[in-house]
Amino acid sequence: MRIAVVGSINMDVMASVDQLPSPGETVVARGVQYSPGGKGANQAVAAARSGADVWMIGATGRDPFAQAARDSLASAGVHIGYVADKPGATGMALIEVGADGENHIVLAAGANGLLEPADVARADSILTSCDMLLLQNEVPWAANQEALRIAKAAGARVLYNPAPMRNLTGEALRGVDVLVMNETEAAALIGTVPQGLDGDWSVLDSLAGIGIAIVVVTLGAQGLVCWQRGGLIRLPAFPVRAIDTTAAGDTFIGAFAAAFDERNLVRALRFGAAAAALAVTRPGAQAAVPMYSEIERMLE
Ligand code: ADP
Repeated sequence: MRIAVVGSINMDVMASVDQLPSPGETVVARGVQYSPGGKGANQAVAAARSGADVWMIGATGRDPFAQAARDSLASAGVHIGYVADKPGATGMALIEVGADGENHIVLAAGANGLLEPADVARADSILTSCDMLLLQNEVPWAANQEALRIAKAAGARVLYNPAPMRNLTGEALRGVDVLVMNETEAAALIGTVPQGLDGDWSVLDSLAGIGIAIVVVTLGAQGLVCWQRGGLIRLPAFPVRAIDTTAAGDTFIGAFAAAFDERNLVRALRFGAAAAALAVTRPGAQAAVPMYSEIERMLE
């Protein structure tokens, strides 16, 4: 499976504090951790560790975090030849976590916000030869659209993860084959979301009208539902002891894309869910993404 990912590359900087500061207050952190993240990069790492041939199309800045963010992708086996070099900061999530688990997060787009259609068009040879293109909402929409246009014309499948959610029109979904979203994003897109795995998910039928073939709604520790013309698959989550659910959705998407087979969706969904279940048992984003062999073992 050859996969192109157009999307964000971030460094997550996380400080643990006893209590989150009020405006104007200074508190002393118990410690600081750096962890490579960004939805695009996380999904690319998950797809590569799941055995796919993965190309990242994105951008980093000219700060000390750029190299670490690129190294994390490259060490997972992701090709980074189309990661552009932009002036200024690399995308960054500044995260403060209190002792009770509450957090404050400030997301700075940095280089991700500077990704242009021309940067995407430079990866033309990848976009026209990939089996699947993965898109999210952390780079300018014009960059996503350029990728979708090129890949679609060459016959690739397009998987879109509308996260973080922003106002979407039916136009934005044109050309999308596979839509994967969590409960929050689904609620924003289709209105009220049914309660849980056993709910009445016929509301997803409305998305068929705009040409989407497959819709997955992930439900955290409950599992996921997957709508495909003619049926609904309900898949409970693998039972694990979760310690950090960062990038659960990204891990699912990357692994699901790597295993994607329209004629055997259940297998690809189970593969993605097993990868995500393993990821939530470990801290961090890319650092938590499991290898192919671990996922296979979980599925035995
Ligand atoms: P997001 O990270 O985008 O909010 P979810 O929280 O819905 O996404 O998680 C995505 C998938 O990860 C779920 O469908 C499930 O398969 C798996 N997952 C998430 N949380 C857990 C958990 N606590 N235990 C097992 N699997 C989980």
